[in-house]
Amino acid sequence: MSGPFCDVCGTGTTVGVFCVPMVAMSVAYCQQCIDANAHPWDIVVGNTACIGSLDQANDEWREIVECTCRHLKRTMAEFNAAVTVSAENLDRAFEAMEEAREKTGDEDPFGLP
Ligand SMILES: [Zn+2]
Repeated sequence: MSGPFCDVCGTGTTVGVFCVPMVAMSVAYCQQCIDANAHPWDIVVGNTACIGSLDQANDEWREIVECTCRHLKRTMAEFNAAVTVSAENLDRAFEAMEEAREKTGDEDPFGLP
């Protein structure tokens, strides 16, 4: 994910690769996105879907969402719509996992230890 351009805004020049707060992932940031506390849209959306909704988030995560939307000039309505789509995709992935489990009879169709 790291290249000459920022993984958050896509246009700023990367100044380093840093951990996304509260997410086990590191991405390239430009100085403007660091200063704005903005983080990659898809990661912010996906992580919010994983916890259920923004209503389930703590204050630090809510601030990250607000700062990211503001810096990327996206609305909360856009954000909430994207979280809904992401949550639906997660549900489908879990259903597919359950179907695979039923088909194979395996406890863990992905062979995880
Ligand atoms: Zn940036």
